[in-house]
Amino acid sequence: MKIIEIFYSLQGEGFLAGLPSVFVRLAGCPLRCRWCDTKYAWDKEAGRQYSTDEIVHTVEKWPCKFVVITGGEPMVDPDLPQLVRELKAAGKHITIETAGIAYIPDMPCDLMSISPKLSNSVPDEAKLAAIHNDLKLDLAVLGALIDNYNYQLKFVVDSEADLPEIEETLKKLANADREKIMLMPQAATRQGLLAKSPMVAELCKRTGYTFSQRLQVLLWNNERGT
Ligand code: SF4
Repeated sequence: MKIIEIFYSLQGEGFLAGLPSVFVRLAGCPLRCRWCDTKYAWDKEAGRQYSTDEIVHTVEKWPCKFVVITGGEPMVDPDLPQLVRELKAAGKHITIETAGIAYIPDMPCDLMSISPKLSNSVPDEAKLAAIHNDLKLDLAVLGALIDNYNYQLKFVVDSEADLPEIEETLKKLANADREKIMLMPQAATRQGLLAKSPMVAELCKRTGYTFSQRLQVLLWNNERGT
């Protein structure tokens, strides 16, 4: 598998925020979101080749049960099921961070952390925007992920104007549990996060969705490896 980095930090987002976790960042993502903060993981040929054994061995350097497989977009890597099975056999709790654009059945994944993309993520460049729009929302895939995995749904909110699109998406996902939905400020810097958080907090109070913090931005200003 092509791996960009493996590092130890705190889970920054979602219902498990604050838990010390080992992150395995896979290379490759076709979405190219406008505000992506891991652009260095876009190229599927980036990083270094690891065997799944080698990944598990590296993860085991840290005395930590929680492993987050992220990217890039891990769900498009054909070797992901093998990696998940090996990590599970090593006793790990596994979160997969995904945009929800591909479905893989029967993985022993403990938490599918799905972040469906909205119009606010469309890249500026026309060619990339066309690919992004084509891929970014597949309701059948989202429905299958929700039906078959323990999950959380994290929506990145850039402004209050994003709320109708979130509600519209959720209306089409009748099986989504409102208690598993989170709103998360779009911010790549600590300053940006602090500026946007009160608006997102108000949206959460209004809708009943949960506010997702971004500890990697708050604590380390999104420095790589955090
Ligand atoms: S889906 Fe995630 S990794 Fe891919 S471009 Fe969007 S934010 Fe970046």
